[in-house]
Amino acid sequence: MRSTLSTLEVERPRDLAHALRIMGRATSGERPIPMAGGTDLFVYLNAGTPPPGRVYLDLWGLKELRGIREDTGGVTLGALTTFTDIRDHALLRRRFPCLTAAAAEVGGRQIQNRATIAGNIANASPAGDSLPPLMALGAVVHALSARGRRDIPFSSFYRGYRDLELAPDELIAEVRIPWAPTRSRQFFRKVGTRRAQSISKVVAAGLLRLDARGAVDRVHLAFGSVAPVTLRAHRAEQALLGQRIKPALVEEARRALLEDIAPIDDIRSDREYRITVAGNLLEQFLRDLGPGAAAPAR
Ligand SMILES: Cc1cc2nc3c(=O)[nH]c(=O)nc-3n(C[C@H](O)[C@H](O)[C@H](O)COP(=O)(O)OP(=O)(O)OC[C@H]3O[C@@H](n4cnc5c(N)ncnc54)[C@H](O)[C@@H]3O)c2cc1C
Repeated sequence: MRSTLSTLEVERPRDLAHALRIMGRATSGERPIPMAGGTDLFVYLNAGTPPPGRVYLDLWGLKELRGIREDTGGVTLGALTTFTDIRDHALLRRRFPCLTAAAAEVGGRQIQNRATIAGNIANASPAGDSLPPLMALGAVVHALSARGRRDIPFSSFYRGYRDLELAPDELIAEVRIPWAPTRSRQFFRKVGTRRAQSISKVVAAGLLRLDARGAVDRVHLAFGSVAPVTLRAHRAEQALLGQRIKPALVEEARRALLEDIAPIDDIRSDREYRITVAGNLLEQFLRDLGPGAAAPAR
């Protein structure tokens, strides 16, 4: 049954400091529910399954949480950066193509205009499309509360299914992405029921660099929808490191990947299909980025 909106309260903070004071109430009572684009929250309200709480904290007007900044070490995305901001950003397209490719596949244009990077992270769906790129790129979440700031590596941000390394009074303020290693190449691929506007059955992102001999000297592989949380495929990475890409190695990496992932049957897909597709995506990744592939653009 739909939630009754008239029983809910929406607070519109004047500025970020005000928002953090409101979030501070979580330490002594009910946690206010941060609301960014609302594209997940309104689905839950419509389905009658909203998160516990009566007070929504509308972040949309906070200019401190907007903007994309570049410096010598990388790029910082404000929490309210939308997927339209990301897909239309020339520098991000050049330096983080796996992230901009993911942004272009989140819902349709209307959703991309409202859906934010922090909302995708905090919603914590194992099918969230920006999560594998953020994990492959070694992102760091900047969390803020009235108590101060914490930097949380994305690789340790999910403790379990929809269980975040975020205190009840903390907001995600920014997401920091370091520059990818020079000469590395990136990959993103989402497989859903259809080519557009579908939730991922399997989603993968990766980064690969070959040394002068053509052997793998950097590889980051991240997969979504194949476990309770988005994960790095460390065993498959280990199988590839130091090796030249050839068919026998691809087979070995596919076998290693089986030890990294733990897909389940659910309404969107089944375990066997996900295992096959995850292996196929790994193979495509190695084919697209391996020896003979076009040089990365800068
Ligand atoms: C039609 C449709 C299609 C979609 N397609 C896709 C898709 O293809 N791929 C995909 O990944 N997702 C998809 N989504 C899901 C959704 O659009 C994304 O997860 C989006 O990024 C959520 O961002 P938001 O700003 O709308 O979050 P909101 O709905 O505002 O919030 C989502 C969650 O994040 C929390 N939150 C928001 N901001 C913060 C913050 N700064 N700090 C702490 N917590 C915060 C909220 O409390 C809530 O728990 C789709 C949704 C719809 C309705």
